[in-house]
Amino acid sequence: MESFDHSARAVLACCDELSHYSEAPASIERTFLSAPIHDVHRHLRAWMERLGMRVWVDAAGNLRGVYAGERADEKRLVIGSHLDTVPNAGAYDGVLGVVMGVALVELLRDERLAYGIEVIGFSEEEGVRFGVPFLGSHAVAGSFDRTVLDRRDQAGVSVADAIRAFGLNPDEIGSAALDSNAAAYLEIHIEQGPVLEKAGQALGAVSSIAGQTRAAVTFRGKANHAGTTPMALRRDALCAAAEWILAVEREARATHGLVATVGKIDAAPGAGNVIAGEVQATLDVRHGVDQVRERAFRTIVRAGEEIARRRGLLFSHDVRLNQAAVPMNPDLLALAAESIAAASPPGAPAPMRMVSGAGHDAMVLAARVPSAMIFVRSPGGVSHHPDETVLLQDVQAALMAGSYFLRKLSL
Ligand SMILES: [Zn+2]
Repeated sequence: MESFDHSARAVLACCDELSHYSEAPASIERTFLSAPIHDVHRHLRAWMERLGMRVWVDAAGNLRGVYAGERADEKRLVIGSHLDTVPNAGAYDGVLGVVMGVALVELLRDERLAYGIEVIGFSEEEGVRFGVPFLGSHAVAGSFDRTVLDRRDQAGVSVADAIRAFGLNPDEIGSAALDSNAAAYLEIHIEQGPVLEKAGQALGAVSSIAGQTRAAVTFRGKANHAGTTPMALRRDALCAAAEWILAVEREARATHGLVATVGKIDAAPGAGNVIAGEVQATLDVRHGVDQVRERAFRTIVRAGEEIARRRGLLFSHDVRLNQAAVPMNPDLLALAAESIAAASPPGAPAPMRMVSGAGHDAMVLAARVPSAMIFVRSPGGVSHHPDETVLLQDVQAALMAGSYFLRKLSL
């Protein structure tokens, strides 16, 4: 118990230390292979090497450290998360999972397991700098799309240039892929939502990462004079969109686990005294089960068509992203839930199995190795914000659960 408390304090101190390495003067911001990533690597590398880990940075800029097991040619558990951040970030999104990986190795106190442990700090998950997320985990999973190397950031620097400027060789990205000894992946991550807090639980086992459909929709009506056009003769695209947005909300509220969002809307011509002739809006629909998401999406599209028809408008939609849900490995999910139960106080309710509404490196790794995720409660449900935090006792519980997971895992 005492060692977990000590270790949890060390985890929080490390996250705090790393939060000072930033591109921005008064906030946390670390995009792909920016200068402060060097500092983060130096800090974590020193700790990992003190624990006897073999440490290197691969060609995609991922920090990798291997803690050998008791045999030479052995299987490996990969524990990881990401070290990059959004602008104006909190101190725990991603970083916590990497630091926890190192802390779990430290808690072994030089003991060797029947398998090795590789801790990875992914270089890129958020997609801030180049508009493409998961650059780091795709390289590790062996699914890196080399055409991405030519993408440029706002300063005109390509991904390949950024990799070279960091002192790495983009031609070697293929060598970042996991070898066949990598047998499982565990990611510990803050929930970034309010569900665990609402349920009064410190930890949750992720059953799957939600699939997403994103679309652009357009309502086409007729712009006209706001003073001279009687209400009954209007084809107001903004009123149609408003009715549809509420239909989207109704559909989501009526479907268990479904979230649907219209987050952006543009009305043209966009003047106070002109009826809106055309509205473009975004749609984001997510659910842990693909069929449920697809059915809801069809219902939402039909609602748009029906509203447009009734109002004498045209409705069209263009699917921009259709991403299937990624289930976690059932055996590892069961072990994660068992580990959480073992770390819970007596009489605590059964561990929550929850769908992650956000994407994570685990969804990329899951295509390559059996994967599991443990969520840590986010106080206030706040993330991607400087107020993002975690509770000391929750980090302690996560370390207990993680240690149990390591003890029970057989690869
Ligand atoms: Zn994250």
